[in-house]
Amino acid sequence: GTPKFSGMVEDCCCDYETVDRLNNEVLNPSLQELVKTPFFRYFKVKLWCDCPFWPDDGMCRLRDCSVCECPESEFPKSFKEPHRLSTNDLICQEGKPQAAVDRTLDSKAFRGWTEIDNPWTNDDETDNDEMTYVNLQLNPERYTGYTGPSARRIWDAVYSENCPKYPSQELCQEEKILYKLISGLHSSISIHIAADYLLDEATNLWGQNLSLMYDRVLKYPDRVRNLYFIYLFVLRAVTKAPDYLEQAEYDTGDPNEDLKTHSLIKQLLYNPKLQAACPIPFDEAKLWKGQNGPELKQKIQQQFRNISALMDCVGCEKCRLWGKLQVLGLGTALKILFSVDGQENSAQTLQLQRNEVIALMNLLNRLSESVKFVHEMGPTAERIMEGH
Ligand code: FAD
Repeated sequence: GTPKFSGMVEDCCCDYETVDRLNNEVLNPSLQELVKTPFFRYFKVKLWCDCPFWPDDGMCRLRDCSVCECPESEFPKSFKEPHRLSTNDLICQEGKPQAAVDRTLDSKAFRGWTEIDNPWTNDDETDNDEMTYVNLQLNPERYTGYTGPSARRIWDAVYSENCPKYPSQELCQEEKILYKLISGLHSSISIHIAADYLLDEATNLWGQNLSLMYDRVLKYPDRVRNLYFIYLFVLRAVTKAPDYLEQAEYDTGDPNEDLKTHSLIKQLLYNPKLQAACPIPFDEAKLWKGQNGPELKQKIQQQFRNISALMDCVGCEKCRLWGKLQVLGLGTALKILFSVDGQENSAQTLQLQRNEVIALMNLLNRLSESVKFVHEMGPTAERIMEGH
């Protein structure tokens, strides 16, 4: 393990050791299976460079940046008729605005899901013309070569949505939380780049880059802490809505697969080991208690929507895909924890879009993978880089 990190995860209710143990024993194995199921591997997304802030800078054309369509053989049966994808559509869709997508999908599969707007995010899922389906399993989040001023300005803009807008004496717990979530997500993205890196272009050799993980994440203990924080935050959101998530419709037309999806969901939601060791991974009830709580919540909601809009400016297609997915997943976690229940609108019940649930579970899986990689490879990376 990483002995540097012991005791409770800041603002959370579980300690580092417990998180590592639960992640390795129960959470990571279930999540890894879950994201492979047909329901969870297709993400609906608007991928075009559609940035209101800066012009396209050509980053989209990097080879390892582009996203591929779902091959027909991969598509669940109920998705296929009547429009079939032609082989022409199997090549990467970069630069192909008309890449064929079965637009009848929504009315046929995934019945029973609502189409209401998420107040925390900028994307509108009902905007079908612009949307495409991507098989996440074929487009893993990893090193893409996206770097330089184009990537830097996105991160700068994302962080500027946070603290600088407030005079420092006003900084309260809630604002720190938004910063920690973004920083934790940033750590996770960096760790995936390090875990799956193009080591040698000539031979197309991919592998781990431990010095990158050290330089970008491990060297700054706060970034590791923020990763554990966002993991517990999102885990709390998932386990806070067990009835809703258990009863939701996971139908893709393949009874065996759908049964498996459902049983994996139950394994996650009602895991006895998780309930015994870390029943409330994050305590959201403590937040928004102050006098200007509602006002503050609105402010942070607007900031998060701006962060969501910035994802349209990510200049590399695959980074944009995962950036959008993970920001939507985080927006869904925020919606579950803060937009429903208790508070002013106690009559409001939870309603989620199918895409929100897909994003939420895939985000949790990405974070779980990062926590696992830090736990397994962190000590080795530190030994090498710190020379002892
Ligand atoms: P960056 O990672 O760009 O960091 C910029 C600055 O932010 C750092 O100098 C530091 O001051 C601060 N910072 C860094 N990490 C943290 C943290 N955890 N908490 C707080 N502050 C921090 N590249 C890929 O290869 N594959 C991808 O899938 C990918 N997805 C991306 C998704 C998004 C939304 C964005 C904006 C970028 C993505 N990138 C991806 C690019 C990647 O994140 C880096 O920007 C790029 O590799 C250049 O890294 P860098 O060393 O300049 O530092």
